[in-house]
Amino acid sequence: MRLIEIFYSMQGEGPAMGKPAPFVRLAGCNLRCLGCDTDDRSYRKLSVPDVLESIQSKRVVITGGEPTLQMEHLSELISLLHSHEKEIHIETNGTNPIPEKILEKIHYAVVSPKRGSDFHLDFWAGKKNVHLKFVLGKAPWCWTSELLEDLVPALVKERVWIMAYGTDQAMQEAREAWDLALRLGINYSDRLHIRLKRR
Ligand code: SF4
Repeated sequence: MRLIEIFYSMQGEGPAMGKPAPFVRLAGCNLRCLGCDTDDRSYRKLSVPDVLESIQSKRVVITGGEPTLQMEHLSELISLLHSHEKEIHIETNGTNPIPEKILEKIHYAVVSPKRGSDFHLDFWAGKKNVHLKFVLGKAPWCWTSELLEDLVPALVKERVWIMAYGTDQAMQEAREAWDLALRLGINYSDRLHIRLKRR
């Protein structure tokens, strides 16, 4: 697998916020979001069993980049982690549906659709282990309150999250996200790792 790093941290956002886990960060992405904080210029190659060997905890978060770009290796990794009874979380931009047989082995898939991309909402929205996380902000790939007010009513609200992009500088966006979540009856997510400046 093309791997940027494996690091141990706390999930800072979404449904597992505040839970510690090793993060497996895979290289490569099919989108180019302005301000993306993932630098994948240098990566190493690791076999799937070697990745498993590095995971000492029960819970593991697979992230990127966009992990689904390596679907064959990703499927192999998820199956192996599942056979070792790991609690598997994955973060994806939603542009590549994960095969059903693999998806059902995942505890949480957190899909963060980027505005203007082909994110297959119909596929993800019906899945019980999928949470949709929308980022509110001014960047071209972020969502606006108006767009989310149109989109969210058709979704299962318990599994929809809204998060402000710039909680480090723009508390205003965080307040707007909070108010919108309250108005729509959906979940608000902070970005604790950004707020606390921790990885
Ligand atoms: S989808 Fe995620 S990893 Fe890819 S460019 Fe956008 S923010 Fe970065």
